[in-house]
Amino acid sequence: MKPIEVGTAVSTAPGVSHGSLNVGALPDGSPVDIPVIIVRGAADGPTLWLHGCVHGNEYCGTFIIHEFIRRLDPAQLSGTVVALPVLNRPAFQKNQRMSPFEGMGGGDLNRCFPGRADGSVTEQMGHAIYTALRQHADYLVDFHTAFTADTRWALFADLGGEVSKKGLEMARAFGFAHTLPAPKGILVGSSMMTAGAEGIPSFNVEAGGMGPAFTPEVVEDGAERLLNVARQLGLLAGAVHDYGPLVLFSNFHWVCATQAGLYQPLVACGQKIEAGQVVGRYFDVFGESLGDAVAPSTGIALAVHPGPIMARGETLIHIGLDPRGD
Ligand SMILES: [Zn+2]
Repeated sequence: MKPIEVGTAVSTAPGVSHGSLNVGALPDGSPVDIPVIIVRGAADGPTLWLHGCVHGNEYCGTFIIHEFIRRLDPAQLSGTVVALPVLNRPAFQKNQRMSPFEGMGGGDLNRCFPGRADGSVTEQMGHAIYTALRQHADYLVDFHTAFTADTRWALFADLGGEVSKKGLEMARAFGFAHTLPAPKGILVGSSMMTAGAEGIPSFNVEAGGMGPAFTPEVVEDGAERLLNVARQLGLLAGAVHDYGPLVLFSNFHWVCATQAGLYQPLVACGQKIEAGQVVGRYFDVFGESLGDAVAPSTGIALAVHPGPIMARGETLIHIGLDPRGD
């Protein structure tokens, strides 16, 4: 078989290969090498590229990718899975969203793609990852999480043609009902929109919460849904499960807290909310009420700040706008 090489991971025959891709260097000179897993199928087919922890504290996706790969049998696979379960390794080590080695702006790896070879710490990281992605990926699935364990929604690059068609197919096969067909101009510099603009159908999962805020059930469910995506894309044989109709959004609204305090949320992810609805309560450090947090838009709650403390300007709630059937 023609070799597939991503960093030091080399695949020349059906089976699983491990290696690493260098994306930078730490102040002591030690390399930042991120893990690469290649699962090569017995038969030819497309290459599905998976990555997680582009935001370092969003570990649920890493667990989903690992579980998916455990369930893959190379003998049954037509094509290749390339998985990078820990993209932002310095941030992963610190249990934080962004790399600790980015002093100036531009520290969000998921706004830095396609990156720059001579750019900032994070841009160089983005460049190394995206160069390999562009070379190999026929499809991309990127895993993220929000605040809480009950986060369940998805996005795909809706940039026209095959990218939109295959993106919608991946969304349907993954089957999270709440899905945003992401229009041109949002999430600029994300791997999803960058790859989508270059003709690679790209899908983004938001499942589970940050840090430890996810359950084994979310991981198993995510792996099962990813197997269904692999069936939809022709990497695995078998009937594609129908998870039912999707609810699509026109866009989303990030709502920032306009005050600070102890905070108790009153809504859950997936819940329909109306403009003007009370979504949480603020208290001061004496326990006195500071008033209510009110939703400014109607839609579906995609992510909800879990409390118990809120700084002014933090993301209070993330609302999917104009929900409609597909
Ligand atoms: Zn993220």
